[in-house]
Parts: sequence; C-alpha cells; structure tokens
Amino acid sequence: MDCVFCAIAAGQIPSTKVYEDERTYAFLDIAPGSEGHMVVIPRAHSHDIREVEPADLSAVFAAAQLLTRRAYEVLDCDGVNVINNCGAPAGQTVFHTHVHVIPRYTGSDKDR
Ligand code: 5GP
Ligand code: ZN
Repeated sequence: MDCVFCAIAAGQIPSTKVYEDERTYAFLDIAPGSEGHMVVIPRAHSHDIREVEPADLSAVFAAAQLLTRRAYEVLDCDGVNVINNCGAPAGQTVFHTHVHVIPRYTGSDKDR
C-alpha cells in the first residue's frame, strides 16, 4: 500500500486512535503542533478535498466537531484549529484527504 493514511486506517501502520466510525478514522499526529494534535481521515482514499465524497467530508467534519468538544473537555484547551491543507503549496504532505484538529493553549508550553 503506497498511501500512509490508508495503511493507518487499515491497521497496517500503528497509530494512536482517538475516534473511529464507519466512514472515518482519527489518530494523534506523529509530529504534533500542540498537545493532543489529531488528524481525521475518511477511510476511503481521495487525493485531496476536491475529490472526497460529500458524505465522507460531512462525516470527517462531524468527527472533527466531536474531537474539538472533547479537546475542551478532556485536554482543557483554550481554542482549537480545524484545518485542511489542499495541495503542496498549502502545506499538504500526505495526499489522502484529512483534517487537522489542533488544540490551542494560552501561554502554555503545551502549545509548541
Ligand atoms: P499535512 O501536512 O499533509 O496537512 O498533514 C499530514 C500530517 O500527517 C502531518 O502533520 C504529519 O505529522 C502527519 N503524519 C505523517 N505521517 C504520519 C504517520 O505515519 N503517523 C501519524 N500518526 N501521523 C503522520
Ligand atoms: Zn489513502
């Protein structure tokens, strides 16, 4: 398998799961921008947000909302960035559509 996120969703590459459902899988980012930095992916492969099925995109953002709420409740963060990078110039490095959920902390070393 040549897509790292397909391999993660299939359990072929280990990851720290934070959420999953029929359409999505979410895990901790290997190079977190802050404590609790998560990545949400649709299980079905697509190169970037232009190609993802609307039902999968909807499921990804529903998962991102749930994880945003959980970040406030469990991690006691002060804010959250929900980010999609589309294309290399925009910062996309893994070409399987995904959304970052990045908890933010005021004046804390948890926010790198
Ligand atoms: P992008 O830059 O494409 O928007 O985000 C890709 C993200 O995936 C990066 O933040 C990167 O750290 C993360 N990532 C890449 N490979 C792996 C991996 O094998 N495991 C995990 N957990 N995260 C990864
Ligand atoms: Zn993939």
